[in-house]
Amino acid sequence: MKPYGEGLLLVVSGPAGVGKGTINAALMQRNPEVKMSVSATTRAPRPGELAGVHYFFKSEAEFRRMIEEGAFLEWMHVFKLHYYGTPKSFVEEQLAQGNSVVLEIDVEGAMKVRESYPGAVLVFIAPPTMADLKTRLIGRGTETAEVIEKRFQIAVREMEYMEKYDYVVINRIPEQAVAHMEAIITAEKCRPARMPKTKTEQMGGKKL
Ligand code: 5GP
Repeated sequence: MKPYGEGLLLVVSGPAGVGKGTINAALMQRNPEVKMSVSATTRAPRPGELAGVHYFFKSEAEFRRMIEEGAFLEWMHVFKLHYYGTPKSFVEEQLAQGNSVVLEIDVEGAMKVRESYPGAVLVFIAPPTMADLKTRLIGRGTETAEVIEKRFQIAVREMEYMEKYDYVVINRIPEQAVAHMEAIITAEKCRPARMPKTKTEQMGGKKL
């Protein structure tokens, strides 16, 4: 996917339990030029989560220091419980190298990124049905019934943001959802505004 077009800043959101992580991991595996941004958070690691791979786990004091230093591209106090933020340096380095970067962030963070990076491509991952999402949240087995119910109510509210996104991918079959993500990347890279200058010059010296 790298032959032409600059790297994309892809913002991927969707309710907890919808399968964003699985889709993004497969997307990255199949497309080495797609890099995943690793967020910082003040929440505790879940079983199996690794520091520096899934998140950079920080104390509140460390996180606040990073905010003051301007180290985040965006940050949020998600669920009014924990801080989450996207470290700026990795994203900027990768884009400069022509790689695409995926930010797996919440809906409000996504809106902030759109303001600061108007060229960002926003993709919303939706469940086939809300009942299906509830089953997946329960099946994950990592949270209490109370937390699951809270996350489900948040999911219902997050779904209202869907129309503000550039694309919606329904995660019915994960392989298909990954193929849809690849199609979005290809289509976005084919936009005339994203063509490298040399290509447009070859096409007659005019910027398309
Ligand atoms: P979880 O705790 O389940 O890993 O993530 C909770 C929520 O925080 C998800 O909606 C996730 O997309 C969002 N999130 C993760 N990292 C970031 C980040 O860097 N910025 C923002 N705004 N949201 C994030």
